[in-house]
Amino acid sequence: MCRTLTTLGALGPTRRVSRCGCGAYHVVWQHLHLSLHPDELAELCRLFAAPLLTGERRDVGLWHLHLQVGAARLWYGPMCVSLTLGEYQGLRDLLNGVQARPVLPRPLYALN
Ligand SMILES: [Zn+2]
Repeated sequence: MCRTLTTLGALGPTRRVSRCGCGAYHVVWQHLHLSLHPDELAELCRLFAAPLLTGERRDVGLWHLHLQVGAARLWYGPMCVSLTLGEYQGLRDLLNGVQARPVLPRPLYALN
């Protein structure tokens, strides 16, 4: 359970991205809560980096984004969340404002 969170970006209290002291990133979008490894957040940010046109799809890692008429579908493996076009744009703005820190290799002495 993550407790020490630093907010990296927010669009109100129920839409935010934060980083935990353990290195996990948390994306909260209303009822959707994602706890992500830095690489997963970087992929999610790349997925949303450039805008999509209606009917376009984009895949980055296990993420898949499909922009349809009036809605966007965000998939991760078998799970999908539907976003209105306004939510899609808001999430895009939020993710474009944050950057995942790369995971640094742990020195060998840290294993002792
Ligand atoms: Zn944590």
